[in-house]
Amino acid sequence: MPNELVKGYERFRKGYFLQNRDRLLTLAQGQSPRIALVSCCDSRVDPTVVFDTSPGELFVVRNVANLVPPCEDGGFFHGTSAALEFAVTGLNVSDIVVLGHAQCGGIAALMDKQPNTENQSFIDHWMSLAAPAREAALAGDAQNRYQACEHSAIELSLQNLMTFPFIKSRVDQGTLSIHGWYYDLAQSTLSRFESSEKGFVSLTDN
Ligand SMILES: [Zn+2]
Repeated sequence: MPNELVKGYERFRKGYFLQNRDRLLTLAQGQSPRIALVSCCDSRVDPTVVFDTSPGELFVVRNVANLVPPCEDGGFFHGTSAALEFAVTGLNVSDIVVLGHAQCGGIAALMDKQPNTENQSFIDHWMSLAAPAREAALAGDAQNRYQACEHSAIELSLQNLMTFPFIKSRVDQGTLSIHGWYYDLAQSTLSRFESSEKGFVSLTDN
């Protein structure tokens, strides 16, 4: 049993919970986050810590390599799509952020994958969503092709977000905004995709 989690919960219950009791008990009545965020499962990319937010502020969807699939019909299990649908149509969030990150293991698996390998794993199949990002990264002249693929996959996810009718209609009406951000832990930088620049620009002063 992961006892460190039980001990952590005890610290939370006696510390953070008591210090924020009124706010947390108000949240127990219902949530109304303004921002939905798609981030990677990577243990180093913890959005609530990175953005210094509190419970109730961020509706976070985490998956391998922070990918948004296109809107698809069919009898498969669409966890990310379901979460986005609830965030947009149920919670009426005003913003969706796709948060990519440096040193992404999912992207590395995609970039390092040998062509025509059989026995696709779940990760291989999931990461095939970002195959166009891999192709773009390999075709470009970027020094860091992993980073080029991480950037490209964010652009792809932004395009895929717009294939959901409930997202496109709200973006067109101006009631929902979508953003592609990139976090680099080693460089301590945060940047955003800017379509007019065809690339990423810093979100911070330095
Ligand atoms: Zn990752």
